[in-house]
Amino acid sequence: MPPMKEDASSLVPRPSSPRDRIAQWIRPEIRELSAYHVPDASGLIKLDAMENPYHWPEDKLDQWLELLRTAELNRYPDPHARQLKDRLREAMAVPAGSSILLGNGSDEIIQMIVMAMSGEGRSLLSVDPGFVMYRMIADFCGMDYVGVPLREDFSLDAEAVLAAIEQHQPAVVFLAYPNNPTGNLFDRTDMQRIIAAAPGVVVVDEAYHAFAEDSFMSLLDEHENLLLMRTVSKMGLAGLRLGMLAGAPQWLGEFDKVRLPYNINVLTQLSAKFALQHVAMLDAQTQQIKQDRAELYAQMQALKGLTVFSSQANFILFRAPAGKAAALFEGLKAEGVLIKNMDRAGPLLRDCLRVTVGAAAENAAFLQALVKTGLC
Ligand SMILES: *Cc1c(COP(=O)(O)O)cnc(C)c1O
Repeated sequence: MPPMKEDASSLVPRPSSPRDRIAQWIRPEIRELSAYHVPDASGLIKLDAMENPYHWPEDKLDQWLELLRTAELNRYPDPHARQLKDRLREAMAVPAGSSILLGNGSDEIIQMIVMAMSGEGRSLLSVDPGFVMYRMIADFCGMDYVGVPLREDFSLDAEAVLAAIEQHQPAVVFLAYPNNPTGNLFDRTDMQRIIAAAPGVVVVDEAYHAFAEDSFMSLLDEHENLLLMRTVSKMGLAGLRLGMLAGAPQWLGEFDKVRLPYNINVLTQLSAKFALQHVAMLDAQTQQIKQDRAELYAQMQALKGLTVFSSQANFILFRAPAGKAAALFEGLKAEGVLIKNMDRAGPLLRDCLRVTVGAAAENAAFLQALVKTGLC
């Protein structure tokens, strides 16, 4: 063995703290981001994240637990989740000509699409205010984000979107239908003009489909560049992390290449199949939530000082008296109710907050706390 020599490189000053190394090695666009913040909800009535408030009845829980005994945790899951896809195809009325791709939540599907399409000069187009993950994932993957402002009433400015498509030639357009955080459905004809004009794919994100009266699912056969995304999260299964993309097999085949092989775990596959066998139970919960949404909307509208926006989702966006959003948010929290303050989420959302429709008692507690703040 040759004698150890003094290594010349050791004389060059080396970064001495994580901070210096991070500055050297983490991509600048990542350093500039802040991590998605999920507030601590312990001890609070949780009306901030569009979760379904209901639990399953005991007999259903027992059946489910019995089924979990059969889970083979020592084996990798079925990489194609075939049985689950069959159930989803049926439950979601996916047209025969369309394929299905599954994600660990629809967030992962957005990530797969963007990973497969990003590159120098490529862009993702959506609307502002819209679902924040579109922009975040575009940022992670180094894809340009083009956000076209909605109109003041949160309707789609189709002419502005078409002009932006013409100018930026986006690889992918994401439109949530209904939109989050505004809760409205965009004009269907405008959406179709956008699908026709887009040079790449258009993903219609129907995360809130269960609470809405319309869908683009039946149009999949008519537009080869239309993809439709759904999730079981807002239907009452947020803990499972399961999202679905439906569309032309050729497109899905490309996105499938960037999917990690076992992204839908054994427990999720089993549990989701089970839940979809009992979809009537989930549908009944959805109906209840829609009914409670109408009631909550009317009660909020009766409070002076609030502007309440009508919703086709399981949440309601509303505007507080000018400059009062933060005080209202904190006031509610002090009363034990957690909602989401959207005041800083873009110019159109000034003074706005978003509340999830919960169980009747939770909605009542929210209303009571709202009045107690004395701000409306
Ligand atoms: C909640 C939400 C999703 C994410 O759903 P997951 O399947 O839980 O990842 C996607 N799109 C919109 C518009 C949402 O609001």
